[in-house]
Amino acid sequence: MKRLDEILRSAEKTKNTAWAMAVYGALLNELRRMHSEGKHAPGLVPEAVELADDFPTSGQLCIHTDADNHVDRDLYFLSPEALNKQYDARSDIFAATAIFYLLLSGKLPWEGCCDCVSSLRQKMIMLKLQRKPAALDLQLIPDVLHPIVQKGLAIDSSERYDTAESAMKDLESIDPARVVSAAEHESPSAAEPESPHQDNKHQPMPSYSERGEEKSTFVFQKGSGDGFKDIAGMNELKHILSDDVLFVMRNQELAQRYRIDPLNGILLYGPPGCGKTYLAEKFAEEAGTNYILVKASDLGSTYIHGTQERIAQLFKQAKKHAPAVICLDEFDAMVPDRSSRAGEHTANEVNEFLSCLNNCSHDGIFVIAMTNRPDKVDPAVLRSGRFDKMIYVPLPDKDTRKQIFSIHMQGRPYDANALDMDKLSDLSDGYVSSDISLIVNNAARKAARANQLITEELLEESIHHTEPSVKADMVRYYNQIHLQMERGRDARPVIGFC
Ligand code: ADP
Repeated sequence: MKRLDEILRSAEKTKNTAWAMAVYGALLNELRRMHSEGKHAPGLVPEAVELADDFPTSGQLCIHTDADNHVDRDLYFLSPEALNKQYDARSDIFAATAIFYLLLSGKLPWEGCCDCVSSLRQKMIMLKLQRKPAALDLQLIPDVLHPIVQKGLAIDSSERYDTAESAMKDLESIDPARVVSAAEHESPSAAEPESPHQDNKHQPMPSYSERGEEKSTFVFQKGSGDGFKDIAGMNELKHILSDDVLFVMRNQELAQRYRIDPLNGILLYGPPGCGKTYLAEKFAEEAGTNYILVKASDLGSTYIHGTQERIAQLFKQAKKHAPAVICLDEFDAMVPDRSSRAGEHTANEVNEFLSCLNNCSHDGIFVIAMTNRPDKVDPAVLRSGRFDKMIYVPLPDKDTRKQIFSIHMQGRPYDANALDMDKLSDLSDGYVSSDISLIVNNAARKAARANQLITEELLEESIHHTEPSVKADMVRYYNQIHLQMERGRDARPVIGFC
């Protein structure tokens, strides 16, 4: 027999979806047996579960529970009523589903939710009082399993499965092979013959980083827009990307003949809402390559070293989909300055990033990182040439604001002759691109309610009622940061909306 928590901590921690379903099914089966004997399983946590050596073939496991043996972490597995030591079939199902959630996602349920409340107990009570569904992060879980996980973890016990049989019935209605195919569908590379997920739930299990659900998290796709044509302004930046990056991507033989090193990546920095993310996505469209937009939270994992493995997995997936563009949003949170953050894990994660970024262009990967806080990014990343260019994306200038108004007005009912774009652009001085998008949307909503065209008056009124999201002191701060960044590296031109 082997304890479930030990399996999770060991190299083998890393089972796939089918394995997680097998464990959950066996847990429900054992609970059904216990409930039929009038017993319950208070304190059901991974430490209390022992799997037979031949699991999942035998489907055998034991539950050793003890209601008084909780550490604080175990509260994650406790239903709200079990917090008051009321144990019944529903509270057992809650605990079993919490284990299932952990196996599927690598996270404990509601980890990080309701951060305004200090203790987990308070969080759970708060959720219970509000009688609202908990903010589960279902992204890492295959879609077909969402209803089961949500019903098994319902805060309101009357909405939860009332018997282990009913949960088992729903679970058994799902073919594990189908769940795997859903993950494979999102990640074509997983369909390769050596894939450990192929239609057999008794296959040896892959490593954590090979899990199907992890793969489905990193979905590479092609954009459907018009690439650079959709971007207002940023002409110099578009030139640099076309000449230095796209040219090499599109003419690899020529680049090799001339021994031109492909660019590894660029870092876009500047105030929020000025189009860094937009530009990155439009670049990928222009290049016609697969791309993925990754936020810092997409890389988070509660497994020890899990985040590190997910970073490696991201680059591995990108290599399989090459040529590919990885857009890393909130880069300061992914690669924070190690000198200002304690903890070995952060250092390990930053090191992993550094090693993945090293020459990733040779694997057909181009990285665009974005940050509002370049001063918080670990200097080693910026210093070492892993990013070939650091480009400041400032507030849009007058001409660009005009173009952004035009882009956002496209396809909406308005009389072009009745709009004074110069005036709108003047009135919106100090507004960022996302503010202009909001201004146009608000005016359009008002016009729609009155069933009329979008007029100059409505747009001016909307500007008047919208505060610029980047305040004057923030602009000063960004100007300073920009100067510092330029001093830190070779002098570079200010590039952006020009
Ligand atoms: P950032 O990443 O700098 O915070 P975003 O890329 O999220 O800013 O920009 C917010 C929105 O503003 C985009 O979704 C897009 O609608 C609009 N936008 C930004 N820059 C441009 C641009 N150059 N042309 C057209 N629309 C833009």
